[in-house]
Amino acid sequence: MFTIVTLFKNIVIHLRSWAKMLFILIIGLSIIVFSIFLVYKPMYGVTLDGEFIGYTEDKNDLQTKINEYMSAGDGDNIAFVEIETLPDYDMCLMKKETADNKDDIYNKVIESGVPYYKYYAILSKGEEKYYVSTYEECESIKNELKEKDSNNLDDITYTIKYETELKEFTDKETAVSALYEKKPEPKPVVKRYTGSGSVNTSFNVDYNYASLGSVSLIHPVSGRISSRFGARSSIRSSAHTGLDIATSLGTPIAAAASGTVSWAGWKGSYGNLMVISHADGVQTYYAHCNALYVGVGTYVNQGDIIGEVGSTGNSTGPHLHLEIRINGVAYNPQNYLYN
Ligand SMILES: [Zn+2]
Repeated sequence: MFTIVTLFKNIVIHLRSWAKMLFILIIGLSIIVFSIFLVYKPMYGVTLDGEFIGYTEDKNDLQTKINEYMSAGDGDNIAFVEIETLPDYDMCLMKKETADNKDDIYNKVIESGVPYYKYYAILSKGEEKYYVSTYEECESIKNELKEKDSNNLDDITYTIKYETELKEFTDKETAVSALYEKKPEPKPVVKRYTGSGSVNTSFNVDYNYASLGSVSLIHPVSGRISSRFGARSSIRSSAHTGLDIATSLGTPIAAAASGTVSWAGWKGSYGNLMVISHADGVQTYYAHCNALYVGVGTYVNQGDIIGEVGSTGNSTGPHLHLEIRINGVAYNPQNYLYN
């Protein structure tokens, strides 16, 4: 009985001294830790690819900033920034006065970043032609081309691009006018009118000037002089008896002066030809017409539309062959017109 009580007492005494020691130990450690934190602070040593680049106290803040930069960059049209090596953080105790070089670390990390730009390419027949910033611009360009009834709508496509290089952007107006393709002209309709009336098609030409008497002329069409009076060419065996004025198919032809139609219809190499007989033996010839609007015997006033420009007969493209004859002899039309 005595032995058990004594043993119990001894255990209690021992436990008390252990608790005392533990208490002293904790106080001692606290003093040490407290002293350490008076002089030191916890920081992160940052390394990039094994290279030490600085210390920071706020790892989360720094990493959030880096993540934000990676997801948006700091310029226009950046989709994301690829950073191959991200920093490593090692916690350590540093002297209180150690500077936090968070900004330097950030700059160093993003320095190696490769920005990927997001933009759109407009393609024609699968070939990249122009670049724009947004999808809306692509749509707007295509819609404008649709409105203008461009011939190549099916060839125009667009695609999104993610590239490390930003292309130069083209504004809508430039892209539309460069991409626009006119619908092809309808194929020339060659009509053949049965000739009626009488016509002098001799190669009798006079290079001198002759008066047209009371007749004064106006331009039947406007266009580009493509062959002059007297000229010889590969498609003509003799001197040119008229003046060729090239213009588009279907251009209305006005009567150069008032008179009566004396020939209307097909005449060999002239194609569809109209001849108007004016006063004083003067006649005007309108050849290669696509259409003739008036028949033989009709009186027309100066300026009346008598037909339209074509490429019928001996002709390589739409033009008006204009002849001016006095008593059957052809004179240079540029004596009177287009000079
Ligand atoms: Zn001609």
